[in-house]
Amino acid sequence: MADEFPFEISPMFEGERVRKDGMYVELAGPKSKGFELVKAVGMDEIEDGKFTLIGPDLSEMEEGSRHPIAMIYRVAGELVEPDLEAIVERRNHDFQNYIQGVMHLNQRYDIWIRVSKDAVKKGLNSFEQVAKATMMLFKNELPFIEKIETTYITDLAEAEKELEAAMESYKIRDERTRNLHDEDVDVFYGCTLCQSFAPTNVCVVTPDRISLCGAINWFDGRAAAKVDPEGPQFAIEKGEVIDAVGGEYSGVNDLAKSLSNGEYDRIKIHSFFEFPHTSCGCFEVVGFYIPEVDGIGWVDRDFTATAPNGLPFSTMAGQTGGGKQIVGFLGIGINYFRSPKFIEADGGWERVVWMPKNLKDKVLVDIPEDIVDKIATEEDVTDLESLKAFLIGKDHPILERWVEEEEEEEEEAEEAIEDIAAAAPGMMQMPAQAMMAGAVAPMAMAGGSGGGVKVILKNAKVSIDRIIIKKSE
Ligand code: SF4
Repeated sequence: MADEFPFEISPMFEGERVRKDGMYVELAGPKSKGFELVKAVGMDEIEDGKFTLIGPDLSEMEEGSRHPIAMIYRVAGELVEPDLEAIVERRNHDFQNYIQGVMHLNQRYDIWIRVSKDAVKKGLNSFEQVAKATMMLFKNELPFIEKIETTYITDLAEAEKELEAAMESYKIRDERTRNLHDEDVDVFYGCTLCQSFAPTNVCVVTPDRISLCGAINWFDGRAAAKVDPEGPQFAIEKGEVIDAVGGEYSGVNDLAKSLSNGEYDRIKIHSFFEFPHTSCGCFEVVGFYIPEVDGIGWVDRDFTATAPNGLPFSTMAGQTGGGKQIVGFLGIGINYFRSPKFIEADGGWERVVWMPKNLKDKVLVDIPEDIVDKIATEEDVTDLESLKAFLIGKDHPILERWVEEEEEEEEEAEEAIEDIAAAAPGMMQMPAQAMMAGAVAPMAMAGGSGGGVKVILKNAKVSIDRIIIKKSE
């Protein structure tokens, strides 16, 4: 059947990248509009294999041009139910990447597709070919789909109109987990779909943490595991609670160890710093630690400028992805901002210091009222200095951490000086307090007659096991 297509179809093309130079057309992406949507319908509501195109076809598009694209699939089958829509929809990413010369990135309203010049040269000249190949893969790989039809839209006005309806569908899906929490269930769901490019990544989907791609919530995981228990989504028995705040469970740890090939053996689902959830590369948002203010910033794919740490999303995404536990970076789905357990182990919203305006607006109603004006955006700050000033000006709760840290540092410095004094009592010629203040202090060596040494302690952490002081002959 695959012979009817002018391209090869295989999972081996999944990692294929279509760079700007080799691109014939770009569809959707950050500079245009698009989405993918799957709807479950009744068996008699669709015609199996039917393809409809609204707007110009590939053959009518100029080389190097950019266009919107909406891909709406309707699926039916005895086992097909609305709970499966998100799971089926997520596979559009895989299946389109199986097509040689087609690159599909992201999901839902974030999709970004490129068709290569080589593929067009070989005869790929209609979206019908892509749609038919994708529908074939849906039916082959997900046998519970008995019938499928699809509509692709490349007309901007029509795509925008349908996008509104699609956003409503995504919202309804996401709302379903609002009143269900991690402690209410005994089973979470795992997903290893992205191990094809991030071999140690294991996504853990709980009622309070949507998948980092933002496409799979707890109900979706449950529906997928039910219909295909051997598939990429599966049940995880929670087991014993090890850390209720951080979200650590013995069942999750056991599974993480085996599915990551021992790369890590603990996951804290709601922790940014300690045994954080891994990130494959499909995250909607990257969280990044800003040590200068001890806070966390978040940046999404749509933000093309640099964050206050001087880095763009793409650079931080490179640091975050790959399926490892990276302390200091974390990939999440946008809906996780709405979770009452959002990075609970690290202070939740009180730890958030910066977000792009557009992202902040998207989750505005979910940000606690007392913090919302204290989170800076690119309209308020441009770099770390202005971020610091903003946080001080707004009396952000992060300031309490700075005070605690200063106190800790002072205590540590005091202890260090006491240790020095205990190790060499004659050495101390001046009060410890004066040294701690960071003064440049000449310190005469015990029994010495001139010169001495200069000791400068500025926010220092000093750890000394042993000091030997000898009188110079
Ligand atoms: S990001 Fe995670 S949940 Fe989403 S498809 Fe990949 S492995 Fe599955």
